[in-house]
Amino acid sequence: MMARVRRVLFMIIAGLSLLLFMAIVAVWIRSFFVRDIVSYVSKNGNARLIQSIRGRVHIIIDLDGKSSGSFSHQEDRLAPDAIWNGGMSGYPMKVEWHMGHVWQRYSRLHITLAPSPGMPRWTTNHRLIVIPYWSPALLCAILPTIWIWRFINYGHRRTIGHCPRCNYDLRATPERCPECGWTEPAS
Ligand SMILES: [Zn+2]
Repeated sequence: MMARVRRVLFMIIAGLSLLLFMAIVAVWIRSFFVRDIVSYVSKNGNARLIQSIRGRVHIIIDLDGKSSGSFSHQEDRLAPDAIWNGGMSGYPMKVEWHMGHVWQRYSRLHITLAPSPGMPRWTTNHRLIVIPYWSPALLCAILPTIWIWRFINYGHRRTIGHCPRCNYDLRATPERCPECGWTEPAS
């Protein structure tokens, strides 16, 4: 009974994982043609800008609070010559990549262009997060792959007359496995 519950639970989670995988792949493909931008201000007053472009999600978070603005979403067709950050300012001078991922805190220096004595300058703090779509897609593909592999393996072991659970040779006892106790399911 427990084994049955475990099997059903595995199938549900693997099925959801497969749906998630397909959704990620769809957005992944979309990111090469369309740029999606979502921005909002979180409860602690930090603005977030989320951009899907060229196979990656870029998230810029302001860390100083006091941001203003409302939730917004926009999309535009990606130009063929669009660069990795969509040509947007506000990125760190030197981006630190870790296998295509970024998790980086950085400061930006702002200087007013008005030519006055004692030109005001100030810095703001931000975090850049970059996630390539292959990374969550890979994670979501693990369980469905195990599922399919098990399915193929099960069929193969049944075909050659072995126990589908433990691969013990069942040609002498086809209904029941003496090794692990597997029994032929009543169809
Ligand atoms: Zn067995």
